[in-house]
Amino acid sequence: KKNVLVIGAGGVAQVVAHKCAQNNDVFGDIHIASRTAEKCRQIVASVHEKKSLKGPGVIEAHELDAMDVEATKALIQKAGSRIVINVGSPFVNMTVLSACIATGAAYLDTAIHEDPAKVCESAPWYANYEWKRREECAKAGVTAILGAGFDPGVVNAYARLAVDDYFDTVDSIDIIDINAGSHGRYFATNFDPEINFREFTGRVMTWQDREWKINKMFEVRKDWDLPVVGKSPSYLTGHDEIHSLSQHLDVPTIRFWMGFGDHYINVFTVLNSLGLLSEQPVTTAEGLEVVPLKVVKAVLPDPSSLAPGYTGKTCIGDLVKGTKDGKSREVFIYNVADHKEAYEEVGSQGISYTAGVPAVAAAMLIASGEWDAKKMVNVEELPPRPFLDLLGRIGLPTRVKEGESDQPFA
Ligand code: NDP
Repeated sequence: KKNVLVIGAGGVAQVVAHKCAQNNDVFGDIHIASRTAEKCRQIVASVHEKKSLKGPGVIEAHELDAMDVEATKALIQKAGSRIVINVGSPFVNMTVLSACIATGAAYLDTAIHEDPAKVCESAPWYANYEWKRREECAKAGVTAILGAGFDPGVVNAYARLAVDDYFDTVDSIDIIDINAGSHGRYFATNFDPEINFREFTGRVMTWQDREWKINKMFEVRKDWDLPVVGKSPSYLTGHDEIHSLSQHLDVPTIRFWMGFGDHYINVFTVLNSLGLLSEQPVTTAEGLEVVPLKVVKAVLPDPSSLAPGYTGKTCIGDLVKGTKDGKSREVFIYNVADHKEAYEEVGSQGISYTAGVPAVAAAMLIASGEWDAKKMVNVEELPPRPFLDLLGRIGLPTRVKEGESDQPFA
């Protein structure tokens, strides 16, 4: 029995808990641990309510400060967990990894580690923290899969699949992430506002002609015409997976494009220009010291509260250009997910769904041995087909578009 331990109790953890429960014939017992035990208990209640638990085994809630390595080790041991799915805040990655290395449990996460004191982590992202610990993992024989959400995660597997199976040479990979959904609120972020804004307040770094290129956020716009979601504006954005893919695949240009509407950009620009997205404390006339970003977070809707009314779809994929058999080729490998369907199945919106389901698929492949690498790896270092096949079976089917042809991945 693997007795999986889930760290965090946010939107993504909610999806992970339900998907683990639906597949607990693979996992055995499921433990959910977060700073606020009540949130874990609510997830447990929702799993029982939706009757997600399929096989024998229990699901239990725990209170844990995952910044505390000793406490995390003790919980892994008490729960007898052999796989830890870290979907807590990115601030806890390194401490959870330490606890996994010490106990021999497999580790996986969906985002790079971040230092709360920094405005935003800059490239080369994985080299800042994670890759410094590769030898430690290899020495301990511990499997650590980095960035196993959708982006990073599934898009890395799409990139590897394209390089291996669809092309002789690849010139460029454009990862495109469009959320064409609507939450009906004036302004809200789809996940933790602090983490969300950090992504866009720094410089935009992308890999172009085998070099890092620097742009400003919202400087480079590109409009796509994508399956299901249609015409969608997007902006060049820095993202974790550009770094690992640039190191692992022989592809000269790798870019990431995030979809934004004008309204989001306007509100973001006002907040940012006024200094309201700053982590630096300011003192009010009354002598009160406040962190502007924390105040903005406190007044914005809680991302998990958006789920019940969320409608529309997401389309995330890799547009890959290169050559095959001496001819130029262009392929779009992608998934379309539906916010409402996600909510009905697991009680979270589509963004959390697309991040959580891949983390569970990766955990299932660790359990089966197919992805039990016994060292630290990024998703593109692992065989993509078992992952994409499994994702198709548990809720995130892949499609491949080439010219007029648009087929399910097989
Ligand atoms: P939330 O902010 O909703 O949840 C984070 C959870 O972590 C909260 O339950 C929080 O607890 C918990 N937490 C924070 N600090 C600690 C601590 N010290 N000890 C224990 N628990 C702690 O985030 P999401 O669910 O939206 O996202 C989870 C992760 O997934 C993030 O890392 C995010 O970046 C990543 N993500 C990845 C995507 C991908 O495609 N790769 C897409 C979307 C998200 P509390 O509530 O008590 O504060």
